[in-house]
Amino acid sequence: MEVNCEGCAGCCVDWRPVSPEPLDHERRRGRVPLDDAYNLVPLAREEIGRFVDAGYGDALVPRLWHPETRDDRVTVDGHAVAAIEGRPAFVVGLRNVPKPVAPFGLDRRWLRTCVFLDPTTLQCRIHDDRLYPGECADYPGHNLALEVETECERVERVHGGTRLRDRSDPPTGHLRLGPEALGTRVFAHPEPARLDGVVARLVARDLRPADRAEFVGCAVGSTPGSLAVDDERAATARRRTRHASSWVGRSVDDWTAVAGRVDEHAPDANGRIEESNGAPPTPGWGADGGKD
Ligand code: SF4
Ligand code: SF4
Repeated sequence: MEVNCEGCAGCCVDWRPVSPEPLDHERRRGRVPLDDAYNLVPLAREEIGRFVDAGYGDALVPRLWHPETRDDRVTVDGHAVAAIEGRPAFVVGLRNVPKPVAPFGLDRRWLRTCVFLDPTTLQCRIHDDRLYPGECADYPGHNLALEVETECERVERVHGGTRLRDRSDPPTGHLRLGPEALGTRVFAHPEPARLDGVVARLVARDLRPADRAEFVGCAVGSTPGSLAVDDERAATARRRTRHASSWVGRSVDDWTAVAGRVDEHAPDANGRIEESNGAPPTPGWGADGGKD
């Protein structure tokens, strides 16, 4: 597999506002999320733990789903949510926030992007870090293996150019499906009553640090292949997440304070916001334009 990522970031940006065709699908087929994030990166349990331990709990966000007909379900805050044995099912991914970006050669504008995307270079700030998610390292390998359209192909179709240079031998080392995903990538919250008010705020894009920490704690405390949650591990991760104050969280606050309307013209990339908060720099593009 080979991709041409320079000037793209299609898999890190919610570019629905600049697409003439509806992009209402996620990276892969599946249930409809309660939130409206595009291209949320689902993290594995050990990855979530690493983010928490590194002080990046404030970069994480939960996702729940509308139940499909055959799904178990519970109702929280008036919303039916997909469940496993009466426990709300969820994944944990990376937050997104409006940043001034210029993907695909477009004029710079405000679009929601992954918190780790450098808006100037359109490169990932944790690409060479041990925190780099396996899902991103493999991308778009899982789509290719599952024979669903990749973001690279959508970008080609809408904005031209060649993004997916070679689709052979897609990497799938981090793909987890079905029962194998339980407790490793898909989790179940043990006490739906603790989510009163939280689900309503998730739908309203108004989650508080304690709300996000509630899910992160359960994910870190989860047990592979089981619904069991270790209370002590969960409480420690919940506390660390609740009190995290990384450059990511500070930058989300700063971007939110200055952002224009989504898709509104943005005068410059304002890379100073993240770097003055302590974000690591990105190297810029070499000659090959390979994976970000
Ligand atoms: S992986 Fe594909 S969609 Fe993502 S930046 Fe590279 S070319 Fe674009
Ligand atoms: S972690 Fe990096 S590669 Fe993955 S979505 Fe975020 S910016 Fe993109």
